[in-house]
This record gives sequence, C-alpha cells and structure tokens, in this order.
Amino acid sequence: MGIPFLHIDQKGFVSLLTERIQQKEKTFVITANPEVVMKAQEEPQFMEYVKKATYVCADGIGVVKAAQILGDPLPERVTGYDSMVQLLEIGNQKRFKVFLLGAKNETLQKTVENINATYPNVEIVGYQDGYFDWNSNDIADRINETQPDLVFVALGVPRQEKWISENLDKFSHGVFIGVGGSFDVIAG
Ligand code: UDP
Repeated sequence: MGIPFLHIDQKGFVSLLTERIQQKEKTFVITANPEVVMKAQEEPQFMEYVKKATYVCADGIGVVKAAQILGDPLPERVTGYDSMVQLLEIGNQKRFKVFLLGAKNETLQKTVENINATYPNVEIVGYQDGYFDWNSNDIADRINETQPDLVFVALGVPRQEKWISENLDKFSHGVFIGVGGSFDVIAG
C-alpha cells in the first residue's frame, strides 16, 4: 500500500534506534497501525509525512496480518508504547537525555514523575504539553538548547507526525518518535 514497513522485530528495532542515538543520526519514526495506513491512502499530505520518516514500523497485529496476506510478512508488531518503554530501560543504563512533547499538562507531569521514579538515570531535559501554539518556534528552540537523544511526541495521529515532519529540519540529531497515547498509559 505504498508504505515502506521496516522488516524487524521489537527487540531489533530498539537496538537499531539505540545505535542511531549513539551515532547521533537524526531519525524520524512512525509507528503505523491500520488507521495510519488508511490515512496515508486517503490523505496525500499524510503520505508525505510517511515518505519523510526514516522508519515506519507495524504498530498492531492488524498490519502484521495484512502483510502476511499480501505475501510480504513482517516478523511481529512493533509498537510506539513498547518502543518507548524499552528505550527508557536502555536509556536508564546509558543515561539518555529525553524530551517529552504532548498530552494534557496533568498527564505530562505524572509521566515525568513516573519516568523519574522508574528510570532515575534517564535525564528529562525538557517537557511540553500538547496544547501549544503551532506557530511558535519555542519548542524547537528548547530542543536545540537541551540536545535530547530522544524526543517522544504524544500528540495523537496525525498531529505527532505533522509536528515531527514540519520541525525535523531544525535539528541536527535525535530520535523523534510518535507514541500516541503512551504518556496516558505511563501516567497511570
Ligand atoms: N493530544 C495532545 N494535543 C492535541 C490532541 C491530543 O497532546 O492537540 C494528546 C492527548 O492528550 C493524548 C494523546 O495526544 O495524550 C493521544 O490522543 P488521542 O487519543 O486523541 O490520539 P490517538 O491515540 O487516537 O492517536
């Protein structure tokens, strides 16, 4: 369906992103569930975001099953949430710097608290709730000042892909990944 899914399992994907972080290679990740696949078919603008992504992985069993039926099987689902949690685990060992963008303020505060408690060696260098002025350059400026290894963007589809796509050129490195409702889950 015109979407270049990465043929990789969850563990391999997290290792790949860890390597990209260590080599300071700028990376844009879209985790695509069936809704995302359909959106890319229906909206040319969204397909442009997909084309700009470094990696698109199969977020959900629906995509894995469809790939099997279409004769181009994928190893397993690779989700935004699992990727985020596993990157935080590795980040706790390697002292990654993280920036969190998205969710309601209260959810975000709780997410920061829970990450600090569970992954004390992860350094949260900045955070911003998901209800900001899209015309302001402030968030990109803060990311450039704080130089995070990882930027988790939890604005929902398609806002997170739009934000990353529109801002990516401003950054020299970092892994930027849309993680949907993951902050809500981590906040508990
Ligand atoms: N969200 C946000 N800004 C917005 C809209 C949504 O930060 O303008 C956040 C929302 O608070 C939630 C996350 O994005 O934490 C996922 O939202 P939603 O469930 O609407 O997206 P979906 O999971 O359906 O892609």
